[in-house]
Amino acid sequence: MKSVWINELTWMDIAEYLEKDDLVIIPIGSTEQHGPSGPMGVDTYAAMAIAEDAAKEAGVLVTPPLWYGDSPHHLNFPGTISLLPETLIAVVKDIVRSLERNGFGKFVIVNGHKGANLAALTVACKSLKQYELPHIQIALTDPLFLATRAGEIKDTVEHHAGELEISHVWYKHPHLIKTSELTKENIDLKTEFSDYIKEDLFGKEGVKVEVFWNNEEQKEFAPTGSFSASIKASPEKGREYHENMVENLVQFIHWFRKPSSGGA
Ligand SMILES: [Zn+2]
Repeated sequence: MKSVWINELTWMDIAEYLEKDDLVIIPIGSTEQHGPSGPMGVDTYAAMAIAEDAAKEAGVLVTPPLWYGDSPHHLNFPGTISLLPETLIAVVKDIVRSLERNGFGKFVIVNGHKGANLAALTVACKSLKQYELPHIQIALTDPLFLATRAGEIKDTVEHHAGELEISHVWYKHPHLIKTSELTKENIDLKTEFSDYIKEDLFGKEGVKVEVFWNNEEQKEFAPTGSFSASIKASPEKGREYHENMVENLVQFIHWFRKPSSGGA
């Protein structure tokens, strides 16, 4: 294949692929603010990069990315575009239904937007598998689960628009990071939300209870949009983080494409 991206192939190329394989990766991100140094598309670029490099290595196809996610908490920052969770569920279901209709049977959703999209994406996957298309295999992952080496690679606590998110885009798209605007401060989420907040998305911490906030509250406690210091970000860390995730995803794909995997 001359590309792993479905949008760059002809229908005949896809038909040829389907003669030997039926697995496809679906990258899903967001268009939301990522502080003063990161572009609005950080989460989508992350999902696309992981999907593309894993697909090249495993020899599978990737759908065009979904550039929108569940981001209402960022809506006080201009340029943020958010889907209601029910819209996201509906869009994901339509993508899978379409592909299933024309011969795909194994779906790997690669989310780049961390926890915020996971509720809607989990509902979509469970609902399709349980009630509508029981014969398909469908899986969902995210940097939170793929980046097994995150703790070793980064130096700072990271919640939003921090070291690894910024490093990842810096590695893949250096011109999109405003390196003069990297942030030095961490928002102290514990003063806002107590010790129960999961302050470091990639950290191992004690008892956690999720407390929710809205866009007005967020603009107040994080006025620049950055929650986490990105000053220690670098393209080299981005490369390490990226390669760790791609390697883990490729291993999963090798297991998932075996006919006996995943209860099919
Ligand atoms: Zn993000």
